[in-house]
Amino acid sequence: MTDGETQLIEAARQRLGPKAVVTDPREIEPWTTDWRGRVHGAAPAMLSPASTDEVVEIVRLAAELRVPLVPQGGNTGMAAGATPPADGSAILLSMRRMNRIRSLSAENRVAVAEAGVVLATLHDAAHEIGMRFPLTLGARGSCTIGGLTSTNAGGTQVLKFGTMRSLVAGVEAVLSDGSVHSGLSGLKKDNRGYSIDQLLIGAEGTLGVITAVALRLVPAVAARAVAWAAVESPERALDLLRFLEARTSAIEGFELVPEDSLALVLKHVPNTRAPLTGEHRWHILVESATADAQHDIGAELERLLGLALQQGIIGDAALASNEAQAEAFWKLRDSISEAERAEGQTLAHDISVPVADMPRFIVDASAEVERRFPGVIASGFGHLGDGNIHFHVRAGSHAAADWYSQEGEAITRFVDDLVTAAGGSISAEHGVGQLKRAEFARLAPPGRIHALRAIKQALDPLGIMNPGKLVP
Ligand SMILES: Cc1cc2nc3c(=O)[nH]c(=O)nc-3n(C[C@H](O)[C@H](O)[C@H](O)COP(=O)(O)OP(=O)(O)OC[C@H]3O[C@@H](n4cnc5c(N)ncnc54)[C@H](O)[C@@H]3O)c2cc1C
Repeated sequence: MTDGETQLIEAARQRLGPKAVVTDPREIEPWTTDWRGRVHGAAPAMLSPASTDEVVEIVRLAAELRVPLVPQGGNTGMAAGATPPADGSAILLSMRRMNRIRSLSAENRVAVAEAGVVLATLHDAAHEIGMRFPLTLGARGSCTIGGLTSTNAGGTQVLKFGTMRSLVAGVEAVLSDGSVHSGLSGLKKDNRGYSIDQLLIGAEGTLGVITAVALRLVPAVAARAVAWAAVESPERALDLLRFLEARTSAIEGFELVPEDSLALVLKHVPNTRAPLTGEHRWHILVESATADAQHDIGAELERLLGLALQQGIIGDAALASNEAQAEAFWKLRDSISEAERAEGQTLAHDISVPVADMPRFIVDASAEVERRFPGVIASGFGHLGDGNIHFHVRAGSHAAADWYSQEGEAITRFVDDLVTAAGGSISAEHGVGQLKRAEFARLAPPGRIHALRAIKQALDPLGIMNPGKLVP
């Protein structure tokens, strides 16, 4: 432990009380490894402020003593952005005690939630006043508003509502000198120059500590319809999306599932069954929703899928007849990564390319990867309508036990090169963190890197805000 860390821990204990300072390694340890269990860090202490004022105290001390801080929410991030360095040279700043919903207004359609509020808690609170926060994802039971904002998270409803960037109305954050940026007024219009809020969204804790966020709400869902459809190719899948979007504004979710991913789920995940009979190469999970109780959303989706069938866009379809069946359809989609893990080693890439190019990209890139690395199986699934898929490469059945460590880097570089050549992004949703920093540095245009470094230097000249993350 450095002298600065010892002094910071002692001063924090005196000023914030013992509750805010954890030094027992057994309590810290679960928070020093990333969610995927790939990156292991260490920290001599975990500070847990309960208010914005306490965050200010900590950041001022950290700046004075030159001790880096690693902000952390639910630690569910996919890029190891919340994992401290392995040499123990930074202090963890857990935001989970800042878990108050400060206000919730159906009239303003805004909720102000502290950074440590868990997403599912916000969903429940909004529901109680007849409203909804329309972003959801698999980690909703543990990820926090601060983490979601800091990674500009997406999820399954981006098609209609956008990522966190479109859902955040303002941010309150403590900057690296201890000053507070207060952007919580929720103004719809505010053109006073650079948007500090937007800079902090997706900054992964490298520019400041987010303490609270104003979030846009929409009316609660009165009814939803979920269907499973079979298509011949990713091109036809995109045709289906455009066909539906031209006839209704209710489509919220549109997920592509290749046949072999579905087969793995059926093989490894208990209590799952195929929604359709027969052989199909590609599948689509589609969800539409309405806030209008008079809108027969199920009948509408059924009619539109019937038309799509007549026009040869889809080969077959099944509409979930109740909520249990709707959940069963979603379980098939949500279990793909779990099924792949049960099958063997998998390399995951969260990538995007322009939406119209995605169908061809999936087919061509899979073929190129399989040709270049014989024996592997490549496929893409997920948020086709956002031009964002999870491009996964699985080790073949004869792969060595150390396939991941031996081949992983070369395969990832190959995939990232294909994505970059297609004008895409090597991180669509998950951020850069530690895991994608080297690839980001290798492939990002020089102008982008220059701007990132200049912003970081301007807002965090001492380099105490989550160093070693995002900025190459
Ligand atoms: C099962 C599962 C499914 C997922 N599905 C999706 C998905 O569909 N779409 C998607 O986009 N993501 C998905 N994710 C990842 C998603 O990015 C995280 O769940 C979430 O955004 C991070 O929230 P967190 O509170 O866990 O943040 P953490 O993991 O704790 O932190 C993430 C980053 O934010 C920073 N940070 C955290 N809190 C603050 C704060 N208050 N101030 C400043 N910086 C902060 C950290 O330093 C780190 O860089 C999924 C994750 C899991 C485990």
